[in-house]
Amino acid sequence: MTTIEQMQQELQELKEKSNLRKLPAITHEGRNVIVDGQRMLNLSSNDYLGLANDRKLRQEFRETLTTETFLPTSSSSRLLTGNFSIYDRLEQQLADDFGTEAALTFNSGYHANTGILPAVSNTHTLILADKLVHASLIDGIRLSAAKCIRYRHNEYNQLERLLQVNHSEYERIIVVTESIFSMDGDEADLRELVRLKKQYPNVLLYVDEAHAFGVRGQRGLGCAEEQDCINDIDFLVGTFGKALASAGAYIVCRKVIREYLINKMRTFIFTTALPPVTVQWTSFMLERLAGFWQRREALRFLSNQLREALKNKGYDCPSTSHIVPLITGESCVAIRKAEELQRKGFYALPVRPPTVPEGTSRIRFSLTAEIRESEMEKLINEISKDEKPV
Ligand SMILES: *Cc1c(COP(=O)(O)O)cnc(C)c1O
Repeated sequence: MTTIEQMQQELQELKEKSNLRKLPAITHEGRNVIVDGQRMLNLSSNDYLGLANDRKLRQEFRETLTTETFLPTSSSSRLLTGNFSIYDRLEQQLADDFGTEAALTFNSGYHANTGILPAVSNTHTLILADKLVHASLIDGIRLSAAKCIRYRHNEYNQLERLLQVNHSEYERIIVVTESIFSMDGDEADLRELVRLKKQYPNVLLYVDEAHAFGVRGQRGLGCAEEQDCINDIDFLVGTFGKALASAGAYIVCRKVIREYLINKMRTFIFTTALPPVTVQWTSFMLERLAGFWQRREALRFLSNQLREALKNKGYDCPSTSHIVPLITGESCVAIRKAEELQRKGFYALPVRPPTVPEGTSRIRFSLTAEIRESEMEKLINEISKDEKPV
């Protein structure tokens, strides 16, 4: 068989298992999307606070720009000529907001997670990662020279034993977790992780707040703000691409870690910096983030409603956040249910292996603060009409 035939066969196998992926032809219309001519409420967006949709904010930002200051490219890595002053300003703003010594920004959360772990690990490093961490963290671990052990999801007794057994065998141990998990929408207990890591001087803690930044905490800084442990986390990472409605990512950390990353992190060094105009927009939005608390409240209310409805219906719902899975098990069931919801005007998408473990296919609702109460009621009615889960 030729290589091309092999590829065709593999794609055919994916198709037979209902796991073939395609790029959707999709048009955006505010809170709605239009797919195949059908308008649906977008229940799959990462625009958690509805900020990407806010024309007034965009208008206000546009008025701050002139042809002189509207810079659509940095033309270079920040270590060469791409280091515009807006970068330093954003990093100072982040450090001030979080109350940390320093901050550093990256082109995306994917760059952050694939770059930081390889930079700070060597063959004498052990990474202990939650079983359910995001693909970008897995890739970062693969690119690193560290040994890695995955602990069962949020099972801190197992983690504690792994720390006991291994702390004297390695120069450095890095515990890696998300705060809100991408697929189950449940949360890490950051305070407990801080307690565990403080038992040994050579243990560092890495927390990815991709889904929590903007959404959690009084000022929207994430679960670490909510759990009051920002300065106890060695690598506190988040993306600007979700709730903040921009692009890029950050770490807030000690000064020495920032300087170390600037010198060692390949996904920081060997890439063209984000366009200055994007960084300006991030800074503009960050300035306003604390003020968006009403949107955070609205999102919390809607999320509670949907989670309660799923539980009442008999679904096992691990979520404690605005990411709410309806777990069907089989891929084909997830697909069929998603299609039903789409016919009713709700753009909910199925998530299948390998994104989630075999046998845990699901519809993943990703809620935003803009969903109206009447829409949530209609969605809950649709789900409730469904046959009982087995
Ligand atoms: C989305 C996401 C990322 C990637 O961030 P981008 O800025 O989109 O590259 C990283 N980690 C988690 C947990 C995510 O959900």
